[in-house]
Amino acid sequence: MVKLSCVSTKKTHFKAKKSGKCLKCSKKAIITLPYGPQSFCKEHFMYLTEKRVKKTIRQHNLIKRKERLLVAVSGGKDSTLALYLINKIFRKSNEIYALMIDEGIPGYRNKALAIAIKNAQNWNVPFSVVSFKEEFGLSMHEIAEKFLKKNPSLGTACSFCGVLRRRIMNSFARKINANKLITGHNLDDETQSILMNIFDNNFNKFIRLGPKSGIKEMPDFVPRIKPLIEIPEKEIVAYLYLHNIKFYDLECCPYSSEAKRNHFRSMLNSFEESFPGTKHSILRFYLKLKSCIKNNVTEKANYCKYCNEITSSDICNVCRKLNSLKK
Ligand code: AMP
Ligand code: ZN
Ligand code: ZN
Repeated sequence: MVKLSCVSTKKTHFKAKKSGKCLKCSKKAIITLPYGPQSFCKEHFMYLTEKRVKKTIRQHNLIKRKERLLVAVSGGKDSTLALYLINKIFRKSNEIYALMIDEGIPGYRNKALAIAIKNAQNWNVPFSVVSFKEEFGLSMHEIAEKFLKKNPSLGTACSFCGVLRRRIMNSFARKINANKLITGHNLDDETQSILMNIFDNNFNKFIRLGPKSGIKEMPDFVPRIKPLIEIPEKEIVAYLYLHNIKFYDLECCPYSSEAKRNHFRSMLNSFEESFPGTKHSILRFYLKLKSCIKNNVTEKANYCKYCNEITSSDICNVCRKLNSLKK
């Protein structure tokens, strides 16, 4: 049965096997990672999580010293941990900024914003907010209520939201001269996307996944990186609870139409339970495959005839989407 709701962020989601001891120090374990299988105490679980994030960054050469880093934060669990860890690991060697995009969804965004601002203040990270309304003249609420409800053939709210959000992320990152744009995508997000794009026969999106989005660096496009790509969702929640870091987990977006992704989430969780390590295997296989084939994929770089932003065709996705509302 597919659960059509947000990801569960309940504390009960992580636990240790009864009478388990930490693999590293033999203190009482608080978490068991079934794909090890290994149990850890609080300190060693947190140490291990940070070590894996550092390894991802090093292996894929995601961040260099002195680079200016922009973390895209939604206030949810993943990007909250991304900002916390990036700040913890790089604050002495890099400049770190945080950006939240206000899509204009009444109720939902304001609560997440308050939590994210407080975290950023606690961690001394400069925080900016950019809204759809100021950038595109329309909030997501207006797009959904005035256009998409009347004409569902225009696409889902998520398809608009994703395209518009990515545009703001890139233009803001460029505006502040950021070298890297960091998102909170985790192992679950990424493996779901890998499978979804195979099932959809969407090679173009498939080949752009991974810790460094895209195929090669493009002019005017700030590279997007995903340092939490090897951390399972449950471990992100566990880390935040253990560290007492607040994140927004009250409700999911009222316009979310993630029915398809939920099928993949449920399928992958079921495989992971029967065959621990499945998600890591899918990611490793994907990374090998991408490194073999990416040099054979050509990427066109044009500039949109309406807004002059970089795109692979003559009209960018943002203009395509916004123009469709005018028709
Ligand atoms: P999602 O597509 O909602 O799974 O989000 C993926 C990542 O995009 C998150 O981990 C954040 O890093 C970033 N993100 C999502 N929503 C926002 C937002 N409103 N403002 C800034 N970053 C966001
Ligand atoms: Zn220990
Ligand atoms: Zn355009």
